[in-house]
Amino acid sequence: MTETVIVTGGSRGIGRSIVELLAGEGYRVRFLYRSNDGAARAVLAAVASAGGEAYAHRCDVADAANVEAFCELVADEPIYGLVHNAAVIWDGHFLLMAPEAWEVVMQTVMTAAYRLTRGCLRPMLRAGRGRIVAVGSLSGMLGHAGQVNYSTAKGGLHAFAKALAREVGRYRITVNTVVPGWIMTDLVAAMPEAKRREAEREIPLGRMGAPLEVARVVSFLLSEQASYITGATIRVDGGVGA
Ligand code: NDP
Repeated sequence: MTETVIVTGGSRGIGRSIVELLAGEGYRVRFLYRSNDGAARAVLAAVASAGGEAYAHRCDVADAANVEAFCELVADEPIYGLVHNAAVIWDGHFLLMAPEAWEVVMQTVMTAAYRLTRGCLRPMLRAGRGRIVAVGSLSGMLGHAGQVNYSTAKGGLHAFAKALAREVGRYRITVNTVVPGWIMTDLVAAMPEAKRREAEREIPLGRMGAPLEVARVVSFLLSEQASYITGATIRVDGGVGA
């Protein structure tokens, strides 16, 4: 039977790489994105041309009704895996940070994981197996100035994964967190060259990572090889967070 894996934020960057890799490995992948239809179509085309199976769902994970509608849509489908990858950043000095910047980041990163997991966990419990992977951030482990909202949301996501791992382990469901360092996505590509060079000097491996290097670890955690790993936090950061 083809296993279904849901990936949030699967239309660009790390999420796109996860979708393409998993579809290439034979999973049926349902990915969620917020608004960029063109990017989502490009992912579908890439997956189809490689002979894989993927479905794109325009679903704002920060919106409770959107997530509920998506969960209803897949209610009868055996869900094997869930990858919480969607995120936005909305940086600013703490006192100058608009309440909306706090709300949107918390809803997109942390509350979305709560809502989507709640909506999709039952099939995993019934099947007595499943895999949940959260994509975290060093910002959530170390705290970054100018990102109190994002650090808090990612830190919450890390804790969510650890607590849930303890709760659902007896049902053979694993919950782990993958923490990317500097990964070359749209976000990083838009940084001024000088700032990028400065960041690279801090990385023990001397370069930014590629989305696929994160996707491979997500794929490993979804696989049978990772059957005894749960509640773990795995950095994929070239050593920068060590
Ligand atoms: P990108 O900004 O390249 O892509 C973000 C993806 O998330 C897009 O597919 C976007 O869809 C989707 N998305 C954003 N908001 C929502 C929403 N409300 N509902 C549904 N989908 C949404 O991100 P990256 O690939 O760089 O990051 C992926 C993950 O890795 C994130 O969790 C990020 O925090 C983490 N990370 C990344 C690092 C890096 O260096 N790149 C470093 C550390 C962590 P759309 O285009 O339609 O808006």
